[in-house]
Amino acid sequence: MFPIPKAVSFALPGHRAAALGIWLGLLASTGLAAHAATGCPGNPNALGTSRTLVVDPTEHPLIGTMQYRQTLPLKDHEVVLTFDDGPLPANSNRVLQTLASECVKATFFIIGRMARQFPEGVRKLRAAGHSIGTHSENHPLHFNKMSPERIRQEIDDGIRHTAEALGDPSAVAPFFRVPGLRRGEVMEDYLASKGIQSWSADFPADDWLHITPDQVYSRAIARIEAKGRGILLLHDIQPRTVAALPRILQTLKERGYRIVHVVPAAPGRPATPTEPREWYIHPPAASVAMAHWPRVPKFLFVSTATLPGPALSDSDLYGGRLRDLDLPAAIRRADDGHAAATGPLQSTAPFHAALNTANNLLALPVPSQSIFARPERAAAASHGLSPAVRLASPHGPVPAATPLSRAPRAAEAGGEPRHTFGTRPTALPDVIPSTILQR
Ligand SMILES: [Zn+2]
Repeated sequence: MFPIPKAVSFALPGHRAAALGIWLGLLASTGLAAHAATGCPGNPNALGTSRTLVVDPTEHPLIGTMQYRQTLPLKDHEVVLTFDDGPLPANSNRVLQTLASECVKATFFIIGRMARQFPEGVRKLRAAGHSIGTHSENHPLHFNKMSPERIRQEIDDGIRHTAEALGDPSAVAPFFRVPGLRRGEVMEDYLASKGIQSWSADFPADDWLHITPDQVYSRAIARIEAKGRGILLLHDIQPRTVAALPRILQTLKERGYRIVHVVPAAPGRPATPTEPREWYIHPPAASVAMAHWPRVPKFLFVSTATLPGPALSDSDLYGGRLRDLDLPAAIRRADDGHAAATGPLQSTAPFHAALNTANNLLALPVPSQSIFARPERAAAASHGLSPAVRLASPHGPVPAATPLSRAPRAAEAGGEPRHTFGTRPTALPDVIPSTILQR
């Protein structure tokens, strides 16, 4: 079962809740909040568990931003501690001692095989009031590639053996974390069909890697600080985690973080009321237009009559007469007889004349046609023409070089060498298209 500690209720109306918030803020700043809220025996400065969050797995089946869009509805500077892969008494018991010394409640994801081997370790978690989820039977690391039958078997066996260790199926929370975070739709669909919540995490501490306890500590704190709130993924079976945990909790306390204990909703224990946007680390901004388009009003049409199209005379430009239409004068006269009234046609806009006058003297010389010279044979090659086309040319052998002043004749298939602007032409090897095509 999941006893709810006597946490301070935040469900106070109006100004009383605000006043309490300020009061708690002041206490937190003096390091007394945990003691006041939890009354942790033997540790007046304990970090403590600030509140218990009751979640309904059926409403939010996928949580943890490492893999999912949603995560737990935590407030800023709220952290949920989770531990995977246990129990392994030698290390798990020390983790339990550290958590107990700070009166902190966490969530453990049990491996069924470990529960069979160390059932007493699972019972200790329960006795300490932690939440107990499951983590498969054998911890296979290719969960997303297993057959649906094997996936279901791993999930079911892990739950069954954890429940047997506890002697009470209802003591197992409907929380599941897939080994290695190898999530998949088959697994998620099956969990959802059983009302089980799939837990990813919001930040790991890499404590399964070969790193030092100092690195576990620094990665945990840096990642918590970066996101400000969320689910921390740890492993109670790892000695480096055992060594790093006291310092992690100490730093969280110093920096004003609060630990939240998560329990599943149950008969007589409704889910904590939340707003949908609280389930996102980065909720959709209020300024996102897609979410806030105004409703299109329903107009009431009193008449379906169509207005007449506008006549030319409706325009007040030039008294409703077209001017400067680029039409021959004869047509315009024949059209409406207003040629005399509108004056002579303007063939060019005034700015054109100004530009031409100013710029004609500055015009660059017309480039020589030779700049654009391109050997006809190379063109044929690049277009993939067959050698037959080239051989059909009536112009005989290719000249070795051509003077710069001579403009190429584009119609020739004789093969002018390629010119580079400003240089003397250079003879190119006589490349036969067929040899290019055959390479
Ligand atoms: Zn694991």
